[in-house]
Amino acid sequence: MTIEQRLADVRTRVNKAAAEAGREPDSVQLVAVSKTFDAEHIRPVIAAGQRIFGENRVQEAQGKWPELKQETGGIELHLIGPLQSNKAADAVALFDVIETVDREKIARTLSDEAKRQGRTPRFYVQVNTGLEPQKAGIAPDDVAAFLTLCRGEIGMAVEGLMCIPPADENPGPHFALLARLAAENGVDKLSMGMSGDFETAIGFGATSVRVGSAIFGSR
Ligand SMILES: *Cc1c(COP(=O)(O)O)cnc(C)c1O
Repeated sequence: MTIEQRLADVRTRVNKAAAEAGREPDSVQLVAVSKTFDAEHIRPVIAAGQRIFGENRVQEAQGKWPELKQETGGIELHLIGPLQSNKAADAVALFDVIETVDREKIARTLSDEAKRQGRTPRFYVQVNTGLEPQKAGIAPDDVAAFLTLCRGEIGMAVEGLMCIPPADENPGPHFALLARLAAENGVDKLSMGMSGDFETAIGFGATSVRVGSAIFGSR
């Protein structure tokens, strides 16, 4: 299959999963995760009409996206990987959506940088639904207090919640937990689901799915 065919196949599966969940197809955005792939691999996906992309490293994204964004208007770039404070300014400058706000310090730094640069990236809070020690994210029990801090003192409008369920577990309960936390806290967007489980995530209310290998091939 060509990369265009794989993209078309994923779009078809997204639409089918949305229909089966009784949802409108356009209520689910497809974020094409292009990490590790260079501009030559990304251009055909842009040519096929995809405009929303995800990257997990600021430095890697800086190496390819300024040029790709210049070539084609309307690109929306999501940061989906952990963010160090010393990269916050670069992240605010390049990304349109930052999905991995996971601690007070980075929330404050991002908020300050956005004001300083006059940029308005949208922010998601990452939730560690599986309480995995090696994984970033706010613990489910701490989400309400963290959102209060972000929305209040820090002055950051949080648009969504994001999670990466443990690799070796049934993802359904994790997606259900994220959806419940969003509903309880008045958060509209849910970034959940990857190549192996995006249809399940759509069933639990995902408003965006982050799909890499099913589009670009294995890394
Ligand atoms: C790499 C990555 C994805 C995409 O994973 P695939 O299994 O290739 O679809 C999604 N989300 C995050 C946070 C990632 O790092």
